[in-house]
Formats: sequence, C-alpha cells, structure tokens
Amino acid sequence: MSPSAADAPTPFTRDDYVARMRRAVADATRAGLDGLLVMPGPELVWLTGYRPTAITERLTVLVLARDREPTLVVPTLERPDAEAATGAAGLQMVAWNDGEDPFEGAAALMRGGATWGISDSAWAAHLLGLQHAVPGSSYRSLTQSLPMLRAVKDSAELARLEAAGAAADATYEQILGVRFAGRRETDVAADLARLLREHGHEQVDFTVVGSGPNGANPHHEAGDRTIEVGDAIVLDFGGLMHGYGSDTSRTVCVGEPSEEIREVHEIVRLAQQAGVEAVRPGVACQEVDRAARAVISDAGHGERFIHRTGHGIGTTTHEPPYMIEGEEQPLVPGMCFSVEPGIYLAGRFGVRIEDIVTVTDTGGRRLNTTTRELQVVE
Ligand code: ZN
Ligand code: ZN
Repeated sequence: MSPSAADAPTPFTRDDYVARMRRAVADATRAGLDGLLVMPGPELVWLTGYRPTAITERLTVLVLARDREPTLVVPTLERPDAEAATGAAGLQMVAWNDGEDPFEGAAALMRGGATWGISDSAWAAHLLGLQHAVPGSSYRSLTQSLPMLRAVKDSAELARLEAAGAAADATYEQILGVRFAGRRETDVAADLARLLREHGHEQVDFTVVGSGPNGANPHHEAGDRTIEVGDAIVLDFGGLMHGYGSDTSRTVCVGEPSEEIREVHEIVRLAQQAGVEAVRPGVACQEVDRAARAVISDAGHGERFIHRTGHGIGTTTHEPPYMIEGEEQPLVPGMCFSVEPGIYLAGRFGVRIEDIVTVTDTGGRRLNTTTRELQVVE
C-alpha cells in the first residue's frame, strides 16, 4: 500500500502561485493593509513553494503590495535555492550580501507611512530592523489580519490532504496489529513514526501515545511508561505528506475494556459524530464546537472536555479556522479542519477521537475513515 513515485501529485503551477499572491494582496487591501511582509514559514510555502531548509538570522522576506511585482529579498548565498524552489512562482529577487544592510533592500520596496501585515513567525530582530529602516510604517499580525487566507483549499490541495489522511489511516490499521502490553509508549510512538514514513510522509510532527493516566493529559506525547493490560491509550499522530498535513486520533484498549472505558469512549464517539454532522456551508465554526460539546456536557463530562473541538489543517498541522466558542467565521466549501472532542479523567485515562473533515456543498466529509468503534489491542 506504500505510495510510489507515480502517486506524487502534480506540482503546483505558476498560475496557482500567482493566483494565491493576487488573492493575498486583495485580501490585505480589504483588511486595510498596504501590503504583506512574508517571512519563512507556512505562508511563504503556500504563496511561493519556498521552504528554506535552514532558517537563519539572515533576512528573507517576500514583499507583496498592490503597486509592484511580488519580490523576494533573499541572502545572496541562499538565492540559488530560493530560485530553484520558487521557479514556478516567477518572483523578482533582490539579493543582499553578508556585510551589507539587509534592511535596505526591503526598505526600497516599502513605502513609508504604510501599514503592513507581517508573518507571525517573523524574528523580532527583523521587525525591529524594518521599523528602523522605514520610519512611520506600522505592522499587524498577518494571521490576525487575514485568518482565512489559506483556509479554503482548492482541488489540488484537497487531493494532497486526502492522500495524507489515507496514509494516516493505513498507519492506524497497522498499529492495531502491533504489541502494546509490556512495551513503552515511546516504542509504540516509534512504530507510528515509521509507519507514517512508510506510507509516504516526509515529515512526522507528533506521535502521541497516552496510556492509562497519561491519556488524561492532552499534551502528553509519549514517555517511558510501560503499557499495561486494561489501559485505554490515546493515539494521535500526523505530519506532512507532499507538503500537506495529516492529524488523526483514535483511542484503543489493551485487552477487554472496563465498563467505564466503554461508556466514556461511546460518549466521545457520539460527540465526534455530532460535530461532523454540524458541518455545512454557512454554519459558524463555533456551532461545530457546540454540537460536539453538548453531547459531552449532557453526559455529565463537560468539565472534562478541556480544549477546542478542532483546528484547520493545510501546509501546517494547526492553522485557522478554529472550531471554538466565539469563532463566528462561517464555514465555506473547501475548508479542512479537525473534529476532535475528548474526555480526560485526571489520573486515570483519556479518550479522544479525531478526523479531518472537509466542507462540501452539502455537509462535512471525513478524510479519515477508519472505524471509530473502540478497538481492542494486545
Ligand atoms: Zn491530533
Ligand atoms: Zn488535531
């Protein structure tokens, strides 16, 4: 089932990148910004295809504004890599040499007195340098100004997310066959990472194995605890495949589950189902959270569901839109995000079930399709 080279998706084209950069400028204008300063990170990858391998203290910035061609300011020694990676995007380049003032090149592209959206991942030193080089400019968080910039996926992006989801599903189906009892969490986590790579992931971002009481801590990754018969185990794993993310959770039981584990698992399964069923165009993100949360609250576990219901996914595994109370952004066909309610009984065990869901014209469609019934492992 491992993907071959033949399964590699068609590369994004110049038209794709040009359209994204145009949309970014149009969205920025609507948000009251004069332009965008995009530093290495998820936006730069999405806009240009450029993912610098080593992000150093040297300034790299894509300057996007209405009145000029998209221009990448780049250190001379990284220019060949940048040109190779952004060949399809057809960018202007301004290179600067070590020993030169890196902010001069950027300042020449920026109007004084303008308001810029700047990447959340920008180094403070770079923002300070730009503030000094372009007096009178002001800056706003790119993510806060344009939260939905990357949220609606086109068909080529959706195909990548589907492939990543299928690889995560294949990983889950195989992990059900490995031994759990008597092994450490880190051993099972290593199995998950190996399987994700075997099924085509180029990057593994997380492999949560939360056994017994560790499952009650949603931020637990995997530790030295030896897995015991009777443990409920939260498995939550994902990474990047062809540049797009996977993220799925299932909770399994080692040997026959107790009545309580069965009950709590069933509540989470129904909550996750309710969350997915709430997905349709025009519905506010918070309604997905409310639908899942209501099932858990009605069952008396409301205080044990201690995180939002979901997050967007794309070139990163966590991004807007967020399925959380207070988020009134309406769902739009093409959005992709997780629906992942959980119940956490401190000191005892936790249960989480998570699928990536995409919004279609008529509702929500899961990109993870493995069984959500409680599975017994050895
Ligand atoms: Zn997850
Ligand atoms: Zn998630």
